[in-house]
Amino acid sequence: MKRLLVTGGAGFIGSNFIKYMLEKYEEYEIINLDKLTYAGNLENLKDIEEHPNYTFIKGDITDSSLVEGIVGKGIDYIINFAAESHVDRSIENPKVFLETNVIGTQVLLDAAKKYGIEKYLQVSTDEVYGALGKIGLFTETTSLAPNSPYSASKTSGDLLVRAYHKTFDLPINITRCSNNYGPYQFPEKLIPLMIANCLQEKDLPIYGDGMQVRDWLHVKDHCTAIDAVLHKGKDGEVYNIGGNNEKANIEIVKLIIRALGKSQDLIKYVKDRPGHDRRYAIDNTKITTELGWEPQYTFEEGIEETIAWYLDNRDWWEKIISGDYRKYYDRMY
Ligand code: NAD
Repeated sequence: MKRLLVTGGAGFIGSNFIKYMLEKYEEYEIINLDKLTYAGNLENLKDIEEHPNYTFIKGDITDSSLVEGIVGKGIDYIINFAAESHVDRSIENPKVFLETNVIGTQVLLDAAKKYGIEKYLQVSTDEVYGALGKIGLFTETTSLAPNSPYSASKTSGDLLVRAYHKTFDLPINITRCSNNYGPYQFPEKLIPLMIANCLQEKDLPIYGDGMQVRDWLHVKDHCTAIDAVLHKGKDGEVYNIGGNNEKANIEIVKLIIRALGKSQDLIKYVKDRPGHDRRYAIDNTKITTELGWEPQYTFEEGIEETIAWYLDNRDWWEKIISGDYRKYYDRMY
């Protein structure tokens, strides 16, 4: 039996990952440590909450006595998803990004070092590389050049992980993934926001000219990539994860409008986000050739399935967009 500490497991990617792992590995026990910020939602895990190999602990990764108490009882792998993850919020309030994404990482690394674990895996982002021009791809050796408080905090976390490997020989991997989409994504992020607004016939706010390009990956493909790195990743290495699906934001929004049979008149161009990166794109050669990972979804299949999920799970996102989130939304747009 292996024991995995998954942090931030009540969020979008973490909850998908926990379900994927419990289904695939009967011999793994998963402990989910999550603070349940606005982005954490136990409803994402409803179908496995009674699973005998699953335990939820509500708590903060910056709480060192809590983290040490968990890791001290015997943990083989730590997979750190816990983060403040929304760029716009980092522009409004960077402090909490530093607390969770930097100090939280250090607390987890210290516990991993103190008790000795098989591997610490840091789930990071391609945003640490900054922005690309019209051509080129991010490789694992691209210079780190974060442009937002969010990406600066993720970069700092990554550098600490690297330092604990070099200084203390802590076994680690870092994964840097492109933009994810799929079920259970919080409706402040582009794709679920546009689906939810479209279904309610509300304006679809587009930053600037909408020509910012992202490389989209289905969350389930991200989960299989993390699984591959956890089990086969070479100690100390960074792996980029991407699906070769570059799309401009406006292209995605128009696709959603068409799929839902709504009017293009819903599009509303708003002032661009400060420091908005123009283009991200991942070179995934290392993970595909060294670890044999391949994404399974085409963007067309994935987006169709995702739109269907948001149509079938209206209760899930309607609950979220009422309450506190409403105030945030009104302030932003
Ligand atoms: P999310 O915002 O949906 O979930 C984050 C989770 O972390 C939430 O459940 C929240 O409650 C929890 N959390 C926040 N602060 C915490 C703290 N101090 N202690 C414990 N738990 C805390 O994020 P996501 O989109 O699922 O992203 C997960 C990870 O993947 C993040 O590290 C993010 O940087 C990275 N990532 C995301 C994407 C993407 O497109 N969403 C792409 C690449 C990398």
